[in-house]
Amino acid sequence: MEKRIIFATGNQNKMKEIHMILADLGMPIYSMKEAGIDIDIVEDGTTFEENAQIKAKAIAKYLPDDIILADDSGLEIDYLNKEPGIYSARYAGVDTSYDIKNQMLLDRLKGVPDEKRTARFVCAIAAAFPDGTVETVRGTIEGMIGYEIAGEHGFGYDPIFYVPEYGCTTAEMDPVQKNELSHRGRALRAMRAIMEVKEREE
Ligand code: IMP
Repeated sequence: MEKRIIFATGNQNKMKEIHMILADLGMPIYSMKEAGIDIDIVEDGTTFEENAQIKAKAIAKYLPDDIILADDSGLEIDYLNKEPGIYSARYAGVDTSYDIKNQMLLDRLKGVPDEKRTARFVCAIAAAFPDGTVETVRGTIEGMIGYEIAGEHGFGYDPIFYVPEYGCTTAEMDPVQKNELSHRGRALRAMRAIMEVKEREE
């Protein structure tokens, strides 16, 4: 049977990124939904890594012959003791728009000088393999919280995440450029390297 990669997400943005980065592994890639899995997973871990592992292991129970990938990501703002962190999607309520969430964070940082506005996007990816092993990697991108909302690309907190080296927010970058430097791009490439080694060992 042909080995498949199943990614535990329903997010189309993430699926596009995953297809681009993992294409050269030569394995078909499906979302959880495309693989016929529709379950709610309680993400009750205390770290990005734990949450990614919880998701990957939960799906692996249903699809033991496939490689299951799951990610967990979020924004850490140093001045706010790394908030919103693992609660990034839930910050101020899941149904609250990102225009509001972003404005709330800008308000909480009002008057805070540049050097204390440091932040990072973090992405942990866990892979559950058919042999029962689970591997986890982490990718990050360092930046700072801007002073206003800027940019139309991307999603979530991108319009307030300013990357000094590039002089713009991740919402002002084109998607290909963002993939090259993003936390998820970095974690996916690290995971791709692990998967290539595993394939060679088989
Ligand atoms: P997840 O889908 O559970 O990993 O939730 C991650 C949350 O973190 C998203 O809903 C966003 O709020 C935030 N986040 C993660 N990655 C990014 C990114 O690349 N840009 C903007 N926000 C992000």
